[in-house]
Amino acid sequence: MPHILIVEDEAAIADTLVYALQAEGFTTTWLQLAEAALELQQRSPADLLILDVGLPDISGFEACRRLRRFSEVPVIFLTARDAEIDRVVGLEIGADDYVIKPFSPREVAARVRAILKRLLPRTEAAATAMQSGPFQLDAERVRIDYHGQPLSLTRHEFRLLQTLLGQPERVFSREQLLDALGVAAESGYERNIDSHIKSLRAKLRQVAADTEAIQTHRGLGYSLRLV
Ligand code: CA
Repeated sequence: MPHILIVEDEAAIADTLVYALQAEGFTTTWLQLAEAALELQQRSPADLLILDVGLPDISGFEACRRLRRFSEVPVIFLTARDAEIDRVVGLEIGADDYVIKPFSPREVAARVRAILKRLLPRTEAAATAMQSGPFQLDAERVRIDYHGQPLSLTRHEFRLLQTLLGQPERVFSREQLLDALGVAAESGYERNIDSHIKSLRAKLRQVAADTEAIQTHRGLGYSLRLV
């Protein structure tokens, strides 16, 4: 589920957004201060930020400028004023959309959905380096970090994990995973996938002992949970 970070100092407004976004199946985090949001976004990135322009510590614009130094995450501004200047400034500093208060929370949720949908193909195509939950993929360096620790993977394990990471929660059949490895789907090789998955799991457990990122779907295949 996409994770939306709401940065808004007025509880009543934040509440309606949380409610509308959760009704659409998004997970949400609400923070009242921009500094805290920037810090969180560095530590545990959300998929989209809803950023109030008028915040108590620093303005939403300033927060977005700082955010853009380290993140291309989509941003929707909430602005109290129907001022052309806000719209222009907001888009210039890299916002994806803006909403003028008072707004319909459902309308905001629809815009969130539209932005994430628009970005999806681009993200997949350019997925040479990406953060996905606890995983950080650097395809060019053939490296995946898990909870900040580099995994020591064979080429096949790397390709498997990279494939699963491309679509978290999607169930991949053994045949599809073999395709990803560039190996013909002959009967013997299908069991090979199981042994690669087994060693991959062992390596993930060395980092996070009590979580099971790779899920087995009996008779179907495997999927990845971002835990
Ligand atoms: Ca405000």
